[in-house]
Amino acid sequence: MSDNSDNVIKCLDKGFVRLVDSMGGDNAIVQAARVSYGKGTSKLSQDRGLIRYLMRHRHSTPFEMVEFKFHCKMPIFVARQWVRHRTANINEYSLRYSEARDEFYYPDPKHIQFQSALNKQGRMGEVTPELKQKVQDYFKEISERSFEIYSELNQAGIARELARSILPVNLYTEWYWKNDLHNLLHFIGLRSDSHAQYEIRVFSDAMAESVKSVAPFAWEAYQDYIIKGMRFSRIEQSLLERTLPDRVIDDINEDIAYQLTATLHSNKPREETDLYPLYIKEGGVDSEEDFKLKWDSGEIEIGNVRELREFKLKLESLKN
Ligand SMILES: Cc1cc2nc3c(=O)[nH]c(=O)nc-3n(C[C@H](O)[C@H](O)[C@H](O)COP(=O)(O)OP(=O)(O)OC[C@H]3O[C@@H](n4cnc5c(N)ncnc54)[C@H](O)[C@@H]3O)c2cc1C
Repeated sequence: MSDNSDNVIKCLDKGFVRLVDSMGGDNAIVQAARVSYGKGTSKLSQDRGLIRYLMRHRHSTPFEMVEFKFHCKMPIFVARQWVRHRTANINEYSLRYSEARDEFYYPDPKHIQFQSALNKQGRMGEVTPELKQKVQDYFKEISERSFEIYSELNQAGIARELARSILPVNLYTEWYWKNDLHNLLHFIGLRSDSHAQYEIRVFSDAMAESVKSVAPFAWEAYQDYIIKGMRFSRIEQSLLERTLPDRVIDDINEDIAYQLTATLHSNKPREETDLYPLYIKEGGVDSEEDFKLKWDSGEIEIGNVRELREFKLKLESLKN
């Protein structure tokens, strides 16, 4: 466990996300995965390759070995969305036990927009300064007035568990929220997405910073394969199968043959004379002369052997 008591990221006007503790990191994912895949070697680059393999193949349980515990403060309406993520352990500030504090969310003028005409769950368009002012005034008026009544009821001895229900959902609450990396990435994938509400996105983006520093390889793999990766439905795939000319697939495969050769050579350097035969073995079809020209250009990207071979199989499956 590592103590991260100074790790506070401010969110919205009065909220924050603070990483309290984390357990494990990329190393914990690799350690758990090697129970299933054997010890092998453990060079840093191989750890990265293993993590990327696990993410690509949605082998998710090793990612559950890494834990994060956050202390967060957010408006209640944000917490309402947040608790939908059921795999976390939560302990929240109790308004049955303690009195509410006079802390309400007041949106920044630049985030006051009209209801989106395109997306029923979104906002868009520039609101006039007068209307923005009115929105801000109403937020303030209702928050201050409800808090006055709440305080009056408290002073009159009314039960806190009942008096609290007069307070609006822009009141701030706090909790400890603990989750594992697999489910935290799932949360961030949904809540840092542009379709998520701005107010929860801010908190999700703040938690993403912790993931980036605690498990950088896992974060990178999540971006590459889940967030920026593309999946095709059966219908889309059959459209590709029917209309993608085989020569296009062959052209891509040719590039893959070069990349495989360069990657294998970089992993384990070969004699100059062994390069062309290696390229042919990996499916290349260019003449030796053309191969040399391209090889000497130095413009061949290096990738991951297993990933390139998997890509090749996917492409082949699209051929008629
Ligand atoms: C942009 C956006 C708009 C949304 N709009 C609405 C809305 O209008 N109305 C609304 O009600 N919700 C809405 N939601 C919430 C959404 O439907 C999910 O409840 C929320 O995103 C949590 O997702 P989850 O269930 O995958 O996550 P988690 O609860 O964290 O679960 C993670 C995964 O664990 C598994 N899991 C967890 N618990 C169970 C279980 N009991 N049984 C089976 N599998 C389980 C599932 O595979 C799940 O994907 C919205 C969410 C987003 C991001």
